[in-house]
Amino acid sequence: MSESNAKGSTPENLAGQALSGAAGCGRIPVFQPHIGVDTLKAVVDAFSLGWLGMGSITREFEEAVGCFLGLKDRHVVATNTGTSALQLALAVGGIGPGDEVIVPSFNFVADQQAITALGAEPVFCDIRDDNLGIDCAKAEPLISPKTRAIMPLHYSGIPCDLEGVYSLASRHGLRVIEDATHAFGTAVGGKRIGSFGDLACFSFDPVKVVTSIDGGAVVVQDAKDVERLHHMRLLGIDRDTIERYKNKRAWEYDVVGQGFRYHLSNINASIGLSQLRRADEFISNRQSHCRAYNGYLAKTRGVITPRTDFTDISPFIYYIRVLNGARASVMEHLRTNGIDCGIHFKPVHRYTFYKHCRKGDLSVTERVAGEVMTLPLHSLMGQEVVARIASKVIEALG
Ligand SMILES: *Cc1c(COP(=O)(O)O)cnc(C)c1O
Repeated sequence: MSESNAKGSTPENLAGQALSGAAGCGRIPVFQPHIGVDTLKAVVDAFSLGWLGMGSITREFEEAVGCFLGLKDRHVVATNTGTSALQLALAVGGIGPGDEVIVPSFNFVADQQAITALGAEPVFCDIRDDNLGIDCAKAEPLISPKTRAIMPLHYSGIPCDLEGVYSLASRHGLRVIEDATHAFGTAVGGKRIGSFGDLACFSFDPVKVVTSIDGGAVVVQDAKDVERLHHMRLLGIDRDTIERYKNKRAWEYDVVGQGFRYHLSNINASIGLSQLRRADEFISNRQSHCRAYNGYLAKTRGVITPRTDFTDISPFIYYIRVLNGARASVMEHLRTNGIDCGIHFKPVHRYTFYKHCRKGDLSVTERVAGEVMTLPLHSLMGQEVVARIASKVIEALG
């Protein structure tokens, strides 16, 4: 960590060097994937195996993800993106044409696209002011005879109100598809998200805490669901997955249903595996950066910081809320000082394609969407970089 410089690149972070070159000298990007020589070696080894597509390394990655999450009687099915994981989870949960899924509008559009890809309809729900996760009290009145599922997001890595979600789901017979793409490694009551509950989905896209460049995973309880997921993941083909896990192909097979081409290659899995070996290190670094940010900014007037000390949280982004309409000027001040920042999220109900969807009162979403900004958070960044970014936020408000 002491080796990292303002660009967030280290002598061994090859992606960091390439990216800071692309971003222009000295700028601090919002995201900075950490790709070390360990990852490059893993890729070279995977190429040497001579089986590039889905294969034994994919299987190994699924097992390692299961191990990391502390799964006992549950199974991991790896996919080529987090979005395809969400779509397959909805499909295996029985969601289809005409069904409604309650989902926060304060979200990345991947969730809504996964819903509409299956011919189902998103119903937009508000979030809570304290954790920016779904507001279960506001979700309940949105339930209609068509409602089949609820799809909460653990925004930024902080758990949503899971007790509320599961009690609502059991009272109304809904499936729960947890969007845990921000929360790989977050634990609730000592158990990592995905190791309990109904269905959970993860993403290993380029900017997530652990990356396989692109990738995702669904966690399911039922062995029957694993088989269905294997079929759907590979064009509805019934027998090939077992063969491919042995780096072979089935030449005789049947096609048993609608399927997609959503499987994860050996090469991507090898990257994911190498990253997973460093997940605990990445997470604890990110926790300490987030704590430092909170330390600098929690008492700053006009700013709301996340209400957590980040214990048991795997932080994907570090966000703050800037009050009194000052966000644009804070963002501008950071940018002119070489610090990139982002906005997660513009609410999905405002996009053209989703304007017609049913929605409840979204007053917290509307307010928070005008306040949130994302500060740079990297798995390897110097404490002095965090201090400098925080000081620029304070300066902008001063
Ligand atoms: C990253 C992400 C996804 C989807 O993941 P991809 O791997 O990019 O397809 C879904 N929802 C949210 C909130 C995300 O941040």
